[in-house]
Amino acid sequence: MKRIGRWRMTREHRWTAGHIHDYLDDDLAPDERGRVERHVGVCPECRRALVGLQRVLQGLMALRSPAPAGLAPGIVRRLRSEATR
Ligand SMILES: [Zn+2]
Repeated sequence: MKRIGRWRMTREHRWTAGHIHDYLDDDLAPDERGRVERHVGVCPECRRALVGLQRVLQGLMALRSPAPAGLAPGIVRRLRSEATR
């Protein structure tokens, strides 16, 4: 049943998108981390989002440098507050 497969994918996609920050913050239970990792493994879009966020977070934490050019100030503020929580 292709329709059900696609519906499930959409549901996982939404769930993963909503939990990516918690995943990066290490705020998820092991089974939830597995769920994120499973979806990211099959969804290029979420993989890109995760890798991009990871890179930004690592940059902010490693350097504590000014925000990279082109990144919206609101995003930086949110990432910083989450990184220091
Ligand atoms: Zn996805």
